[in-house]
Amino acid sequence: MVSKKHRISASYGPLNPTGPYRLTAETAAAFTKMVAAAKADGVTVKVHKMSGYRSYAAQKSSYESAKRTQPQNINYYAPPGASEHQTGLAVDLWDGTVWYAQMEYTATGKWLHKHCHEYGFILRFPKNKLKITGVEYEAWHFRYIGVTAAKKFDAANTLTLEEYLGLA
Ligand SMILES: [Zn+2]
Repeated sequence: MVSKKHRISASYGPLNPTGPYRLTAETAAAFTKMVAAAKADGVTVKVHKMSGYRSYAAQKSSYESAKRTQPQNINYYAPPGASEHQTGLAVDLWDGTVWYAQMEYTATGKWLHKHCHEYGFILRFPKNKLKITGVEYEAWHFRYIGVTAAKKFDAANTLTLEEYLGLA
């Protein structure tokens, strides 16, 4: 659990980060499997820019710049130490073209929202759960928790990790 309420230290990071997005080995393997399955269905899944692993320092600079330049959107940004991207267990996904809220309505968004659980991922920040997660709805942010746990999440993606763990 990494969130605004459960922060990690500046030195925390994935052990042996793997691949171009520097995810944990297990997350990278599950992600590769998910991308292949999507491709077999004719759907493109890409990691958005620098949105696999991000260091504490990178998160700090992105948060501070967001605070200055777009304070109205600050609930989309995690303060340093509160971002799952620092763990190598989270990815921001898209089709390479349509970003932000509209991502949900693309073939990629629809496919991921429906199938992510089969590969151990959950939609980490569902709609109308700001009070519980501390983050606005993010159609694109997926967190790896393993297939067994992910399959316990509903297909409509209304459950949060906090509720699942009894932390809400
Ligand atoms: Zn993200």
